[in-house]
Amino acid sequence: MKLSAIRTALAELQLQPSKTLGQNFLHDQNLARWIVAQLDVHEGETLLEIGPGLGALTGAALDARAHLTVLEKDGRLAGFLRERFAGQARLRVEHQDALDFDVRTLWPDQPVKVFGNLPYYISTPLLFHFTSAASPVERAVFLLQRELAERVAAAGPGTKEYGILSVIVGRRWRVELLRVLPATVFLPEPKVDSALIRLVPRGRDELPACDAQTFERLVRAGFSQRRKQLRKLLVEWFPADTALSWPEAAAHAGFDETTRGEELDLRQWIALANLVRPVYPAAAQDFSGEKFDVVDEQDRVIGVEPRGVVHARDLRHRAIHLFVFNAAGELFLQKRSAWKDRHPGKWDSSAAGHLDSGEGYLEAARRELREELGLPLEVVASLDLEEVAALEARETTGWEFIRVYEARHEGPFHWPAAEIEWGGFFPTVVVARWISARPGDFAPGFLECWRLWQARKTA
Ligand code: SAM
Repeated sequence: MKLSAIRTALAELQLQPSKTLGQNFLHDQNLARWIVAQLDVHEGETLLEIGPGLGALTGAALDARAHLTVLEKDGRLAGFLRERFAGQARLRVEHQDALDFDVRTLWPDQPVKVFGNLPYYISTPLLFHFTSAASPVERAVFLLQRELAERVAAAGPGTKEYGILSVIVGRRWRVELLRVLPATVFLPEPKVDSALIRLVPRGRDELPACDAQTFERLVRAGFSQRRKQLRKLLVEWFPADTALSWPEAAAHAGFDETTRGEELDLRQWIALANLVRPVYPAAAQDFSGEKFDVVDEQDRVIGVEPRGVVHARDLRHRAIHLFVFNAAGELFLQKRSAWKDRHPGKWDSSAAGHLDSGEGYLEAARRELREELGLPLEVVASLDLEEVAALEARETTGWEFIRVYEARHEGPFHWPAAEIEWGGFFPTVVVARWISARPGDFAPGFLECWRLWQARKTA
């Protein structure tokens, strides 16, 4: 939008740009187009804009022939945008606080890209919100205050910009600072320069694997008091006089015992997380000891065979799936890790697994709650498990007789990273929409269980 058009629009709306809402409008059209081009949008993709204002970037994004949703907290601006872009079928203007936007609803709409000239007073929480593991965003382009942009993009220790933002965002995302913009391209002019950053997910093998939950807990604790040494801040994980004491950890990860958080690079943080909770990718593929009961078409035991033989020969065997719901009625789904031998990277039931030889269905369900979701024995023993469906063994179930159990738990869960990449609660309407839009995202066994579960609900 041109400067004159911005002035006219503000005058017509009788709107004084609000400092509290971080309103600084971009008035360089070429720059707006260039910023949107950094998203590399393809037809049919889903775009989400945070804080569209008067639509400087929105207009450029609409040219890209994608589906665009914009989230604007200021009702007058949302109203203005609805009028300005009336008749644009691919645009949805939402009058809402972007921090309240439920990123989980985006999974059915992938590929999703997000962008915005962010209001500076909540840029950091917005950044965390839209780049968290709960969000399926695969590319983000944000205009931030220059100092914040430099902190997110800081490559490693040794600079004053490097800190918790660089570490937490940097583990999952490759961050590039694309360009510094002078204050003069905005109306009103902010007091400081801005900078554009682009975030692209890191490749799977770019950094060593680690347990994401442990990593984040350690980093947040390690940066909680910037001046304090890590040995004091992380004493809970590295208690003195144990095999995992701080001097051992420091020696292993290759740093000095008196180090502070900002002195560790990303790989050293990952090494620390791996000392606390190691990830054994090989464990996800080692089935040497596993034996299953082989059953006939009536689910009667007729023998015992190693797992490999059962699968290779399509022998009938037994498994359970668990659907764990929270009080809001949302279903916990897990994303299978890339190391799984079957359906790697697919979304699956809250927990699922084969019955060991001699094990009962319910017994296996309780074991999986411990092994996959990390629930303590006494919690698992006290949970009500309701059998809600039973599937006959056939090709689509992988020749498994499956019993599906429902349970209620609020989490949080602590899963083994070698088996599960991530997990989260999803509203069932989102799951239904996601399955219908992208069935290939899910493990086939889960889809079978889901269909039965839904049929039972609507019966
Ligand atoms: N994108 C426009 C541009 O580049 O000209 C405006 C950018 S301005 C820096 C930030 C915009 O975010 C404003 O329109 C402001 O009203 C909006 N905003 C502020 N807080 C918000 C929030 N919590 N959720 C959504 N939008 C917000």
